[in-house]
Amino acid sequence: MAGEPQADCLFCKIVEGKIPATVVRETETTIAFRDINPQAPTHVLVIPKVHYPDAASLAAAEPAVIADILREAGEIAAEEKIADHGYRVVFNTGAGAGQTVFHAHLHVLGGRGLQWPPG
Ligand code: IMP
Repeated sequence: MAGEPQADCLFCKIVEGKIPATVVRETETTIAFRDINPQAPTHVLVIPKVHYPDAASLAAAEPAVIADILREAGEIAAEEKIADHGYRVVFNTGAGAGQTVFHAHLHVLGGRGLQWPPG
């Protein structure tokens, strides 16, 4: 059922504490942890505790949680002191765009110069 934990989902396992993660922030609806393969000095993933495969399906079903995720990104940018030089928030959506984990997650990247357009 949409929103329910999925047995084969890596990020549901992190939500449930079955796989360790370096958690930087947690709210009632979200968890933020450091990416295992960081692409910038700060690379944090903000995920909903509920399972949806991507940002659009989460936004359609539970729009308040997308707002929570974006608010958390701002808090992380402030805590990590990356806001002054600029940072990037990204929802890769679909394998063709580089999505590899099909539990919605927002990348928060900063701490170095970021090129546009991304590759
Ligand atoms: P995607 O490619 O946009 O789906 O992002 C998935 C991200 O999850 C990648 O940047 C991975 O490095 C990251 N990742 C995969 N497994 C783990 C983990 O166990 N802990 C933290 N990050 C992970």
